Amino acid sequence: MRVCGSFLYLGCVLEVGCEKGRYNPSNKKYKMIIAHLPLGYLLTKATAKIIRTHSNTKGFMVAGLVGSVCPDFDMLYFHFIDNGRHHHHDYWTHIPLFWFGVLLLLAGVCKWLSPKHLPLIIVFGVNVIAHLITDTLVGDIKWLYPFNDAYYAFFTVPARYQPWWLNFILHWTFLLELSILLTAICFFRKYTLYTTILTSAITIT
Ligand SMILES: [Zn+2]
Repeated sequence: MRVCGSFLYLGCVLEVGCEKGRYNPSNKKYKMIIAHLPLGYLLTKATAKIIRTHSNTKGFMVAGLVGSVCPDFDMLYFHFIDNGRHHHHDYWTHIPLFWFGVLLLLAGVCKWLSPKHLPLIIVFGVNVIAHLITDTLVGDIKWLYPFNDAYYAFFTVPARYQPWWLNFILHWTFLLELSILLTAICFFRKYTLYTTILTSAITIT
């Protein structure tokens, strides 16, 4: 449990810090900033139930949480090698076709060499794809690359405020991020009252 808690905390801190600096906010490419890891936690728990694996095994949870933030490891390249010249959603680490290929290859090799570890690949893959989908909420992702160079995003966050992060916090989509974070914390701490209220609200609506 402590491992999961540390991951949740560290993920939030790292993701908030990662877009500062050289990237020019005027070209309106944004991203989800605090919800990847909490969503990863929730999805990993859900995946464990669906494929009937023990979610309390550390390896399964770690595979899910790593998958939920794995594409953003490219921030190291962004900051230390590319010097912020390109948005990190342009790197292959945010190209869906790349991940579909990698995941298929990993699943094939795993099924051949060690089938019992296949759930780790599944939960890792579920979280990687969820990362790309949630990045598409307000950040541009090239879903059809290399066949089409177009960026896709569900919503655009207008660049109205300085510093850059105010644009995120004052946009309604940030409420969605907060609700994901709050839900993950409640599941993590087993706050049944909150989950009961949430379930009731969903049922009523
Ligand atoms: Zn990302």
